[in-house]
Amino acid sequence: MQGDFHVHTQYCQHGADDKMEAYVLQAIKKGFTHLSFTEHAPLPESFTDPAPHRDSTMDRNNVEAYVTEGKALQKQYKDDLQINIGFEVDYIRGYEQETQTFLDTYGPEMDDGILSVHMLQAPDKSFFCIDYSEEEFGRAADVFGGLSPLYKTYYENLRASLEADLGFFKPKRIGHITLIQKFQLAYPKPAEFSKEQQNILEVMKEKGYELDVNTAGLYKPLCKEIYPPAELIAYAAKMGIPLVPGSDSHAAGGIGKGFEYLSDYFLQIPQRLTL
Ligand SMILES: [Zn+2]
Ligand SMILES: [Zn+2]
Repeated sequence: MQGDFHVHTQYCQHGADDKMEAYVLQAIKKGFTHLSFTEHAPLPESFTDPAPHRDSTMDRNNVEAYVTEGKALQKQYKDDLQINIGFEVDYIRGYEQETQTFLDTYGPEMDDGILSVHMLQAPDKSFFCIDYSEEEFGRAADVFGGLSPLYKTYYENLRASLEADLGFFKPKRIGHITLIQKFQLAYPKPAEFSKEQQNILEVMKEKGYELDVNTAGLYKPLCKEIYPPAELIAYAAKMGIPLVPGSDSHAAGGIGKGFEYLSDYFLQIPQRLTL
């Protein structure tokens, strides 16, 4: 594979300070021909970031700077690397309208994008960022009434993200579809969710979405698995869902990390990016 299609930048409030250019140089050094910057889009204005440090995304005031910097790099390195600018957009149930407003505004600037579920609403109406920390995950499991309802809610939200009308610029790729398993070695999977997972892939196929084959989970000490794991990647491949690799790097050194574990798969550069 010649590209990394899920990459963060210095604009992410929970990542390293490495500048976008450092990521570009690392991608070139790796021999890549494609790089997609997919910074966390700012959360909807009326939504309060439930992460303890409220650092889940980029600052809303930095969106222009991010796009401008990306476009300059795009030009500067155009002979060495195809740089795509985009966002990893949160799907938060109940905030579809504001999410669409963001996409309608910045969509015309976006070459690529990912839609992800990180935020879940508990029965008591409070929200949790499910990948923030082991402690927060444990707290979420308590408030949801156990791991089973937490997992169930995750897959329901993922399903809703596929169905949601977010307008013309809705991202075409679905992020890390087994993120709920990030802490699985501390909180073992409560039951078989393969039916729900397969259903997600079937709807993705029907609606024409790409799969973010995300190696970050391999390096999470309580996950140690690609998002999604091998059997689901194989299932997606069999259905003909485009498999698009992403390192989910939050530091320049992470570009392409773990891609050697993806060599069995037929990975694709999204067609719309090859024009
Ligand atoms: Zn992040
Ligand atoms: Zn993510």
